[in-house]
Amino acid sequence: MRPLQMVDTKTQYLHIKEEVDKAVSEVMDSAAYINGPAVGQFAEQLASYLSVKHVIPCANGTDALQIALMALDLQPGDEVITPSFTYIATTEVIALLRLKPVFVEVDPFHFCMDPVALERAITPRTRAIVPVHLYGQAAPLKEILDIASRHGIAVVEDNAQAIGCDYIFEDGQKKKTGTLGTIGCTSFYPSKNLGAFGDGGALFTNDDVLASRIRMIANHGQSKRYYHDVVGCNSRLDTMQAAILSVKLTRLDQYNAARRQAAGFYDQAFAGCSSLLTPRRVNHGTHVFHQYTLRVTNGQRDALATFLTNRQIPSMIYYPVPGHRQKMFDSFLTTTPDLPITDLLTEQVISLPIHTELDTEQLSFIASGVLDFFKTRA
Ligand SMILES: *Cc1c(COP(=O)(O)O)cnc(C)c1O
Repeated sequence: MRPLQMVDTKTQYLHIKEEVDKAVSEVMDSAAYINGPAVGQFAEQLASYLSVKHVIPCANGTDALQIALMALDLQPGDEVITPSFTYIATTEVIALLRLKPVFVEVDPFHFCMDPVALERAITPRTRAIVPVHLYGQAAPLKEILDIASRHGIAVVEDNAQAIGCDYIFEDGQKKKTGTLGTIGCTSFYPSKNLGAFGDGGALFTNDDVLASRIRMIANHGQSKRYYHDVVGCNSRLDTMQAAILSVKLTRLDQYNAARRQAAGFYDQAFAGCSSLLTPRRVNHGTHVFHQYTLRVTNGQRDALATFLTNRQIPSMIYYPVPGHRQKMFDSFLTTTPDLPITDLLTEQVISLPIHTELDTEQLSFIASGVLDFFKTRA
């Protein structure tokens, strides 16, 4: 059996090596390392894939989130509502900009922002909402967008884990997650569903004014060289990464389908196990399985992780400490918010290897390992 990994970027590369190597060597030959033509080409290609008006590439997903909040021109102390159960980048940038993170509860089954909790958290100082399409599944955007528009609040979608995911409206109409809010953000970190061979990120918007603001902020606040109108930053997608991403984007749907197939295998294998909750699929969207995350409901999550490690089966806890319990935010919170579902999830979740290169032998070995653990504890 090929060795197991949480994500196997090497094998994926070997399947497309010729094309990737050619794209990279073209950039090398052109010597256009910064803002070379490949960057604009990739941005256009992605905009067309997503059916969004503007794609603005940047250096990484964290920068994308920061630039999105900067573009909304918020004032220190303005409140930004976000789930606590997410990767730290989502919430860190809120604090970095001296805004106030307001952590809300997620749904215990789809793991994304709970619209009821969102509505309750809104105050006159709320200026933005940052929902996260966690693990690759669409957050309940219709409800979130309705609440946001009723209160005139911007929505910044954290789409770092869900590129290629469809949001499905009640009438069956589909739109890509990341393109429904005011601004969408994504990451091309190598392990993401559309991963570069280094760092990368992008912002999406259908708003022309915001798009030019975003471009300006990502480029030292200038629209004309050496004339700096607003405080910005330096955040660029590397030309080499853009060239690689263009090759990989043509395979994104195929990659997401492979992840979905692996997830289907796991779902079936674990269906009869009473101590496991397999990831629920929502009706309002597809799932692109950035992670395959189970809930272990018998209190033995950590013992399972150790058991798997002993069998050389990798697993990860995304995420062991929720945002509202990170020391980083101590000075931003007057009291620790009461988020029992988030706390419970941090104790129950475990993610298994999921990527585009898993074969049936590997999947069976992983699934048997998990099931053997529960047999020994029955
Ligand atoms: C990966 C990720 C980010 C940050 O992306 P980077 O490119 O690593 O900066 C932000 N939010 C979520 C939910 C992520 O998974």
